[in-house]
Amino acid sequence: MTDAVVVGSGPNGLAAAVILARAGLEVEVHEAADTVGGGCRTAELTLPGYHHDVCAGAHPMALASPFFRAFDLAAHGVEMLVPEVSYAHPLDGGVAALAWRDLERTAAGLGRDGGAWRRLFGPIVRRWEAAVDLAMSDMRHPPLGDPLTAVRFGRRVLEQASPLWNLRFRDELAPALFTGVSAHAIVAPPAFSASGVAMLLGALAHAGGWPVARGGSQAIVDALAAEVEARGGRIVTGHRVDSLDEFRGARTVLFDTAPAELLRVADARLPRRYARSLGRYRYGGAACKVDFALSGPVPWQASGCERAGTLHLVGTRAEAAAAEKAVAAGRFAERPYVLTIQPGVVDSTRAPEGGHTLYTYAHVPHGSTRDVSDAVIAQIERFAPGFRDLILATHVRTASAMPAYNANYVGGDISAGAMTLRQTVFRPTPRWNPYATPLRGVYLCSSATSPGPGVHGMSGLHAAHHTLRTDFGIPTHPLDLLRSVPIR
Ligand SMILES: Cc1cc2nc3c(=O)[nH]c(=O)nc-3n(C[C@H](O)[C@H](O)[C@H](O)COP(=O)(O)OP(=O)(O)OC[C@H]3O[C@@H](n4cnc5c(N)ncnc54)[C@H](O)[C@@H]3O)c2cc1C
Repeated sequence: MTDAVVVGSGPNGLAAAVILARAGLEVEVHEAADTVGGGCRTAELTLPGYHHDVCAGAHPMALASPFFRAFDLAAHGVEMLVPEVSYAHPLDGGVAALAWRDLERTAAGLGRDGGAWRRLFGPIVRRWEAAVDLAMSDMRHPPLGDPLTAVRFGRRVLEQASPLWNLRFRDELAPALFTGVSAHAIVAPPAFSASGVAMLLGALAHAGGWPVARGGSQAIVDALAAEVEARGGRIVTGHRVDSLDEFRGARTVLFDTAPAELLRVADARLPRRYARSLGRYRYGGAACKVDFALSGPVPWQASGCERAGTLHLVGTRAEAAAAEKAVAAGRFAERPYVLTIQPGVVDSTRAPEGGHTLYTYAHVPHGSTRDVSDAVIAQIERFAPGFRDLILATHVRTASAMPAYNANYVGGDISAGAMTLRQTVFRPTPRWNPYATPLRGVYLCSSATSPGPGVHGMSGLHAAHHTLRTDFGIPTHPLDLLRSVPIR
């Protein structure tokens, strides 16, 4: 009889499966799609030989999260390639703010705001592990080992979430650079979650950097899946789970799914109060993904952009805030926020000789059916005139098409749940244990639980921790299992 079933093979589901398998349990993973990986797959979306990251493309958390630090991707043969410039933010007029791996070099490029940037990020960069451990906690039991860093982190998050967020800056480059990262949260800034995301990812840009995986993000989830199978686990693809009854014999079932999918599968069994609470979970702003096969590198106007792995295309802080406000209000921004990744800066394996892949998505209203590739191309042309002439092929996935690809992205919400203040702190519902459901042995372990979206494996780790203790009486911490059980 199987001990543990994981429904969904995203990074969180596979992280949970790895931990349970390392604890010596018999594990089965059931995945709706034909391949493993959830939001961390790579595919030839445009032309043969052009390998595109379908969802996640840049991986600061896959280097830095406690799960991945302990799992050690390098030891599993995954090469994380770190661009010199973690992210760039071009403005009109051929200038750009550059977040180099090196904090000092970054500050030096920010003119009169260099000192302000250094003071904002310096103390957090120096203690990045403590900051990550805090942000990656279950939000109920924050680690208490480094209270000073926690206070410093919290103070900065509050400042950049407040109407006083411009006080520290004098010019355009530095606030635009910050707001570009904060927009990863897909909420209108200034806001608590946006500011928290920017402080965390911004600090990591100057610590380990924002790598891409050689060959594509798929390498990360393939390494996790290989570890599960090497320990005797079974992975079944092409099986969308429809009922809890499919796993009557299992002692624990972990759902790497959005609450909506748990409701669909288990509604009849869930207590009404909990089901109502999951029903109130809100899905937020969405993304339209546009991937390009190019005949050459993007001709960025501003020097330094050609060395960046990731670029945020939207303009000034005011323009970014206006674009995100429009999306939050259910409108299209005329010039939307476009997140761009150019893996070819460090990874020559993504395209045939001379060719390049370009990853982009634009923020759009929830549920949007619109193909916004024209707006995306216009936004790139704004900062890289001549870009259009390099396009060999394009692949578009609208927000409304996202759930057919992955049921977790309801309405095209790539965070699997809006990053409101409430849903950042109490994700998915205000319960002391966000992973356990009222059904014995049934857990949520997806990015709809704390600490939220991203390829970090931490929701899977926290859920696995609970089931190991509660259902199997195994007190060992998952991080100790990852560190002490030899790699296979
Ligand atoms: C367009 C896009 C860009 C992104 N960019 C980044 C980035 O650059 N960096 C980053 O860190 N993060 C990024 N993210 C976020 C990241 O991909 C997710 O937060 C992460 O994949 C969440 O992992 P997960 O395991 O919780 O769920 P997912 O990765 O969403 O996996 C869930 C899996 O469960 C399966 N499933 C759902 N229901 C069922 C069912 N009933 N039966 C069987 N299987 C089921 C799905 O098919 C899916 O494979 C991006 C996401 C998207 C969509």
